[in-house]
Amino acid sequence: MTAASVTVRAPAKVNVQLAVGDVRPDGFHDLANVFLAVGLHDEVTASPADGLRITAEGRDIEGVPLDETNLAARAAILLAKRYGIEPDVRLHIVKDIPVAGGMAGGSADAAAALVACDALWETGASREELLAICAELGSDVPFSLVGGAALGVGRGEQLTPLEVGGSFHWVFVTSEVGLSTPAVYRECDRLRAEGGTSVPEPVADPALLAALRAGDARELARTLSNDLQGAAVSLRPELGDTLAAGVAAGALAAIVSGSGPSCALLAADRAAGERIAGAIPRSHLAVGPARGAVLV
Ligand code: ATP
Repeated sequence: MTAASVTVRAPAKVNVQLAVGDVRPDGFHDLANVFLAVGLHDEVTASPADGLRITAEGRDIEGVPLDETNLAARAAILLAKRYGIEPDVRLHIVKDIPVAGGMAGGSADAAAALVACDALWETGASREELLAICAELGSDVPFSLVGGAALGVGRGEQLTPLEVGGSFHWVFVTSEVGLSTPAVYRECDRLRAEGGTSVPEPVADPALLAALRAGDARELARTLSNDLQGAAVSLRPELGDTLAAGVAAGALAAIVSGSGPSCALLAADRAAGERIAGAIPRSHLAVGPARGAVLV
């Protein structure tokens, strides 16, 4: 019997390391991207419909497209095409992940929609097939499916799972206005061209991987890095103030999340996280690692 509806939850992410190589001839950048999934989630419910319909509710949904450009819709279309069926589905997205915040909200919705449609249509796709569709949808989408922690190389989509020895407590500070990921990469290239220095090959930092393995927040704080941070702050100078306010409020370290503008403040423990969140407006506590896309 076909289910009436299926709901899947997928997590946001923070890049604890984002090493960006030189721009490639195809316009993409080689990355060494250490992802950590965190407990801030979107939910996607798939139910049968006449044609493809997208609806959304929740945080900042004005920025969420409700047509076929929505990443969740694209996920449903790709899966349907692969199995020769019509994408007759209503996808209802409940957003808690900030839109255009550098926390992979769209990617989470795509991974959630894919898993939900796969279950609704009983396509029985293998994990490998689902991961291949995710990689077609975007560099961050495979990680939204997998969750936990992982090293992504290539454009970020070739994943190796990483061991994490404990929980990390984060405070995310959101901005009212998002930043475009391509614009941040362009600014990074522009600043590098201006500086005239050569760009090293992106590699994962062994000390950071050891900190994750040990579950050591202080060591992770010492090794956090984001090559896009300078570009995000150049486009949005007030992010520098947010990072400084985070450290002044007691964070072990503060970093722009991915391409921004969300900022990630690493706390020593839950109590410290609660104090920091209490001191900083528009902030949200979240613990990582979190599970990838999962049926609820
Ligand atoms: P990343 O961290 O992967 O670079 P992000 O978190 O910065 O992504 P998203 O929230 O994924 O950014 O959204 C980026 C843009 O993608 C939005 O401005 C919106 O136009 C478009 N978009 C498409 N589908 C979605 C979706 N389901 N949710 C949010 N935005 C979407």
